Amino acid sequence: MLIVMKPTATQSDIGRVKDVIESLGYRAHVMSGVSRTAIGITGNEGAVDRTHFEHLPGVADAIHVTKPYKLVSKDLKLERSVVKVGNAEIGGDELAMIAGPCAVETPEHVFEIAEVVAKSGAKFFRGGAFKPRTSPYAFQGTGEEGLKILSEVRDQFGLNIVTEAMDERGIDLVEKYGDCIQIGARNMQNFSLLKYAGKASKPVLLKRGLSATLDELLLAAEYIMSEGNYDVILCERGIRSFGSHARNVLDLSIVPALHKITHLPVIVDPSHGTGRNYMVDPLARAAVAVGADGLIIEVHPCPEEALCDGAQALLPNQFLELYEQVAAIRKVVQPEAETVSV
Ligand code: PEP
Ligand code: MN
Repeated sequence: MLIVMKPTATQSDIGRVKDVIESLGYRAHVMSGVSRTAIGITGNEGAVDRTHFEHLPGVADAIHVTKPYKLVSKDLKLERSVVKVGNAEIGGDELAMIAGPCAVETPEHVFEIAEVVAKSGAKFFRGGAFKPRTSPYAFQGTGEEGLKILSEVRDQFGLNIVTEAMDERGIDLVEKYGDCIQIGARNMQNFSLLKYAGKASKPVLLKRGLSATLDELLLAAEYIMSEGNYDVILCERGIRSFGSHARNVLDLSIVPALHKITHLPVIVDPSHGTGRNYMVDPLARAAVAVGADGLIIEVHPCPEEALCDGAQALLPNQFLELYEQVAAIRKVVQPEAETVSV
């Protein structure tokens, strides 16, 4: 059930509804939008009796939710959510650019890339310290040492750090050193991890599973939000198919499809989505053209030496050129967007 408050409802009206929800043994999720506040109810097994709420002051309506998801839905919040990540935002007027290496390798490489990313005007830096690798014998990441390097990047360059956690300990560490917890494609349906991320104090970048449907992605986000963490950013990163011309099939149709249903920001990863250096730029442009709120791009100064995903890494100058192009496309797609200086 969803309780829609009148635009004139006061904080004490909202508090009273929350108290009634909690006295029934349910959880209340207050979502304040520009035009109205709505309160989502979770924790109920069967239907909630609307008569508990209809007569309360400030209540406009009590609506039964028929869709499988509640908190991610635009039924709850009409306006797009803007998620604060460190000292910047994802989902606002400005295109969010997250760039950096696939993995944190040596401090020298990381700082070299960070300098380029900071110079580009991007506000977010990526890099995995915990790497989910297909083979147990492949490079697994530099762990906490890598996170310390990332936190130096934030201190030196003012970039906000987006980095993956693969387990609960990883979430604790990313909370300590980073600004945004990335849950990777392979963990999109690790429900206990999602619940744990739902209790974290940092925003979550949730990547679409290797063959996940739109509903599965939204329900994964719902797991995080139902625990009280509403700062979730969705990421399309390509899904499995049968072709071999690209690593994955980057499903750009999911961007408008998600925007139709959810208030959460949606970004696109053309690096993992294609796996090929020469495809990253055209697919990044396409992603911005279909309305993505941001991009996550892998950059490396010597891709042939990269310990992970060298084939899809952009050289620093290729990244700078890409950013200039997508910033220009963004202006056409959303004329109110701020100009990005490259
Ligand atoms: C990554 O972004 O480093 C990554 C491993 O991506 P994905 O989970 O989408 O494969
Ligand atoms: Mn990678």
